[in-house]
Amino acid sequence: MQTLFGMSERINRILAFALFASTILSLLSLREQASCTSALSLSIPILMYHHVGDWGESRAEWAQWVVRSKEFRAQMDWLVANGFHTTTFRECLQGEATAESVPAKSVIISFDDGWSAQEGLVRAELEPRGMHAVFFVYTAAVGATPNNSGYISWQQLRILESAGHEVQSHTVSHGRLTDMPPSQLDREMRESRATIEREMHHSVEVVAYPFGIYDERVMRAASAAGYLIGLRADADLVVGKPLQYRMPRIRVGYDDGIEVFAEAMMLSQSQINAQKPKQ
Ligand SMILES: [Zn+2]
Repeated sequence: MQTLFGMSERINRILAFALFASTILSLLSLREQASCTSALSLSIPILMYHHVGDWGESRAEWAQWVVRSKEFRAQMDWLVANGFHTTTFRECLQGEATAESVPAKSVIISFDDGWSAQEGLVRAELEPRGMHAVFFVYTAAVGATPNNSGYISWQQLRILESAGHEVQSHTVSHGRLTDMPPSQLDREMRESRATIEREMHHSVEVVAYPFGIYDERVMRAASAAGYLIGLRADADLVVGKPLQYRMPRIRVGYDDGIEVFAEAMMLSQSQINAQKPKQ
């Protein structure tokens, strides 16, 4: 018994040490990666919006891209009341974020497609709450004529960035990337990045795939064009694969009440916590 006990004690100690070592190693590797691309996949939910308004029912084809004004305000209030702080991709990347370098309850609020009305919305609803947004624009549409096309201008975007918001890429033409021949796919990735960099005077690190449609070839093209992060338009779990070029976003729908929103945020937080190494 003594021997057996001694042996099981040793085994226990070996196991305890192995557990300790693997915890330290996983913490070290997290620290070593120290890039926002890995930290983002671990610690920051990304919300996706297009339009905010009360016309979702009257234009059924748009309903999944619109959030009611009242609901949007309730969602922003919920984030504030629950201690969330908005960050941007560049803030995160520039800080070379380790898991510790962004506050535990950080969130990215993204707006797609570069609609002019998004500027007023951000001014009215985000800025008074001390929040910032990230705009994904497709460069063929920015400042597009004729007038009243509804698209935001480079000047508006520059003013938004000077107030702490951020502009990233949604390609050139907003086409289905998976259907494009290689040369066109490459152009969509590279030209949009170069145009935004020229107009906004900073590097562009993130691309949101139009309609959230992507495949392995699209992810490779994003990487080859110099992006560090590629974004989807859904939050389905992807198990066992790196998230860097398939980063999930939480899509908020027209009929989602605050309960659905809160549930999506809580689920996202619990997934994030589940991925963190145990201490
Ligand atoms: Zn879009």
